[in-house]
Amino acid sequence: MFLMDYHIHTSFSADSEAPMEDMILAAIDKGLDEIAFTDHVDFDERYTHPDYNLYIPYLDDLRHKYKDDISIKLGIEVGLENTKADLVNTITAAFPFDFIIGSSHSVKCYDLYFDQNEFFSSRTKQEAYSTYFEEMLKNIRSCTDFCVYGHLNFVSRYGLYEDNAVNYMEFSSLIDAVLKELIERGKGIEINTSGYRYGINDCYPDIEILKRYKALGGEIVTVGSDAHFPRDVADHIGAAYDMLNIAGYKYVTVFKGREPSFITL
Ligand SMILES: [Zn+2]
Ligand SMILES: [Zn+2]
Repeated sequence: MFLMDYHIHTSFSADSEAPMEDMILAAIDKGLDEIAFTDHVDFDERYTHPDYNLYIPYLDDLRHKYKDDISIKLGIEVGLENTKADLVNTITAAFPFDFIIGSSHSVKCYDLYFDQNEFFSSRTKQEAYSTYFEEMLKNIRSCTDFCVYGHLNFVSRYGLYEDNAVNYMEFSSLIDAVLKELIERGKGIEINTSGYRYGINDCYPDIEILKRYKALGGEIVTVGSDAHFPRDVADHIGAAYDMLNIAGYKYVTVFKGREPSFITL
């Protein structure tokens, strides 16, 4: 079976110290066929960015070194913010990325990690999560180049509520609007397995949202671990493949030059 991990960070991300080569060796060791490096670019002054003029040749050298063992794609995980769409669209257009994850890490300029208290403590769950999905809708309409939306219900990692889960039924109209907008624009979603490392024992998003994406006509789904350490490369990807099967998908999506192609499960 074709095995992929399309969400991997390295020491080029501010929140990882993992050398890129160690991540490649871990991926080969775990029997993966293809990976995409997706280091962070977020437009908040508290984050640093990779220098792609150094990053791309560095990745190319490693891609060449391991070309007989694994396929390696140039990706990016860019923080989507509709108020900073010009910045987002400039960086995604500036370099020849194979694959772009667009993620909501920041909502109305509140970074969900750094500003967790400021954003959530003054809002009910209904208010905070609705705002998260409303802003996501605006992000999809204004940030044009991404391939898949990252960890769709990621807000649940940071909520300060008794039950942080994004229950599809509770936010169904907003989630449907997001999924329809993605589908209309030819965009996919990812199944991000990092929830297993953050105590929810599930993927981001869960199977209800994955099924809903399919029911509305969505075809483009990637699988990623969001690894920041070599030990987490390919973590729980079996669970992601199981979700795809249960939801009725016959294939998984890979990208080259931002163009999707489909590989039978
Ligand atoms: Zn992310
Ligand atoms: Zn990530």
